[in-house]
Amino acid sequence: MGSITLQGVRKSFGAHDIIKGADLEIKDGSFVVFVGPSGCGKTTLLRMIAGLEDVTGGAIMIDGTNVVDVPPAKRGLSMVFQSYALYPHMSVRGNIAFGLKMAGLPKAEIDKKVEDAAAILNLTNYLERKPRELSGGQRQRVAIGRAIVREPKAFLFDEPLSNLDAALRVQMRLELTRLQRQLGTTAIYVTHDQVEAMTMADQIVVLSAGKIEQSGSPLDLYERPNNLFVAGFIGSPKMNFITGRLAEEKGAKTIGVRPEHLGVNKQGQGWVGSVAVAEHLGADTFLYVDVPEIGTLTARCSGEMAVKVGDSVGLVPDETRLHRFDSDGKAIR
Ligand code: ATP
Repeated sequence: MGSITLQGVRKSFGAHDIIKGADLEIKDGSFVVFVGPSGCGKTTLLRMIAGLEDVTGGAIMIDGTNVVDVPPAKRGLSMVFQSYALYPHMSVRGNIAFGLKMAGLPKAEIDKKVEDAAAILNLTNYLERKPRELSGGQRQRVAIGRAIVREPKAFLFDEPLSNLDAALRVQMRLELTRLQRQLGTTAIYVTHDQVEAMTMADQIVVLSAGKIEQSGSPLDLYERPNNLFVAGFIGSPKMNFITGRLAEEKGAKTIGVRPEHLGVNKQGQGWVGSVAVAEHLGADTFLYVDVPEIGTLTARCSGEMAVKVGDSVGLVPDETRLHRFDSDGKAIR
């Protein structure tokens, strides 16, 4: 089991309130991603769950028990760091086995657990190597192996892929999600990368300036953002925001429209502007269109559409997909 509940969790460093009352339910077996801009408090929140940081107020329940006074090693959680934190002088086997040895498990049992984890992680042929003889992705797997063998109630990941190059990151992202599904162990994963959040999470928790802005499934957040912050943070390229007369006509302070919900035409229908930048990605093209009195709008069209910088294009929003926000930035539903 590994359900985790936060109740009014707060953290201050001196006079600075870093986490301003977090309430959250994490279901057993789910993959939860904490996402938000640099400095919003993701790592601090994760470290409080791990017990590496004291809470200033509130409760952290693991399977129904408040653990705020329980030391990290007794919480039944395993943390995987960005830096991997492997012992350089130990073999892969030694690194993965370390925690089990410390716990005093019999050797035969340790060997079996280490070999099972190595098989899951494709490390069987590397067990006798030292960390320096491994690639970045393999080192990351060793760090994960060390977490798996402890059979924790939950894995806590702090930006574990950020030291890897882009291609390897995509591969490890897949491996990690597949592994988590296979083991069925609750995972909390911290990242500032909204694409990682969208692709890996069952539940995304968006934080900004120490507050949980919204928590929900990736599609929920994408289709029904609660406020301007979440609307602007989730989705790439970003949602377009339009204020002024056009928004007011639709009963809002701001209207939002995603790039894929702006139909591009060459007949001058809708909002007309000239193409300032065209990013050709192959299947899709992203157009940045300067529209007088509105500003620059981003539109996504098929890669097959022939458009170039300087062309005049019309943009027709899908009226059924508009997002409306009030003067506090709250979504109007
Ligand atoms: P990043 O993505 O950059 O790692 P983050 O969202 O994980 O950011 P945290 O590392 O949780 O952010 O930091 C949140 C805020 O708390 C920051 O403003 C940071 O400066 C502050 N902070 C973190 N640790 C301490 C500390 N030990 N003492 C004082 N302030 C701290």
